[in-house]
Parts: sequence; C-alpha cells; structure tokens
Amino acid sequence: MNPGYLTLFTASHNTSAAIDEMVNRLESIQLIEAPLSCTPQQFHTGKRFLQLLTFMGCSPAVPLEQNGEPESCTIKLLGPYSAPQLIRGSNTRPPRCPNCRQTPQDWEAQLNTAMNQTKNCPNCGELITVDSLNWRQQGGVGNTFLTISQVFPGEAVPVASLMHCLEEDGSSWDYCYIQGPIQLDELSIR
Ligand SMILES: [Zn+2]
Repeated sequence: MNPGYLTLFTASHNTSAAIDEMVNRLESIQLIEAPLSCTPQQFHTGKRFLQLLTFMGCSPAVPLEQNGEPESCTIKLLGPYSAPQLIRGSNTRPPRCPNCRQTPQDWEAQLNTAMNQTKNCPNCGELITVDSLNWRQQGGVGNTFLTISQVFPGEAVPVASLMHCLEEDGSSWDYCYIQGPIQLDELSIR
C-alpha cells in the first residue's frame, strides 16, 4: 500500500523543452534513473535519492527496489499542463486565508472563479485568490508536478540542492504531501 506522495510543484508555465531539461538535470544529480518501460513519465529512484531528501525518522523504510512492484518508490511527472491545476488528495483539509487563517466558507466555490480574480476574505476582508490560499502543505496550485510515492505526509523534505536544481531555469518550486487518490482540478484563467 502506498502511504502517500511527496509532491514537488511549480506554477511556472514550463514548455515541454524546459521539462526535458529539468528531467536531464534530475538524472544528473541522480534523483531519478531510467523511466519505467511502461510509463515514460515515471522514473525509478536514482543512486543519490536518499541524499536529496531528508527523512525525519531514524531509518527511512522507503522501498527502493527496481522490480516494478507497485510498492516500489517511483517518481512520476505530471504535466506540464497548459492551465494551472489544484492538486489535492484524501488528506487535504480546507485551505485557510493567508491573513486571518480562517477557512473562507465559500472556498469550494472559489475554485470555479478565475485564478487572477481577487475576492475579499469573508472574515478579514483581505484580498485573496485561489492560489494565495494556504493549503497547509496538503495541496497546491501548479502546472507541473513531481510525485514521489511511498512517503508518509511530513516524513521527508527535499534538501536545498534539490530545490536549486529544480529552480535552475528560473521557475519557483514548492512541495506538499498528498495521499491517494490524487485529484487534479483545472483552474480557469482569464
Ligand atoms: Zn481572512
């Protein structure tokens, strides 16, 4: 059983060419290795995988065998999508206003409003947009995602050099923890 995904994501509008370069960089720092034969956007872990994440427990129990078993840890690329997507999972709780930390009661309706359309927080009046809501590391808005399986929520964090590698092309990355099933909702832009 897969306990969850450490999910790295960027909201930068990457082209496919930028994605190919990013995959090459991740191969060269040995986060990832050969793609799985059946799914070219899904990769086995590389030799330095355990050096590029900091695990909170004393001995990480991540299954790294490359035997193609569904329980093996793999890294999957989702995207790039032309429109921003909200990623969330079974563990995702309602988001909070970044200012007053209350959950806007209409947050689900907010998802259907345009990304760049601001609304006032019903509690504190602060201007908020879908992607400025605080998803408490249980969700996020991006157009390219890297999901690392077999990671419990909060169990591992990416080290600075991994984030620098991702951000080498000028994009800015963040991470969150998602438990399956992964749900992607396209957000409208106007
Ligand atoms: Zn507020």
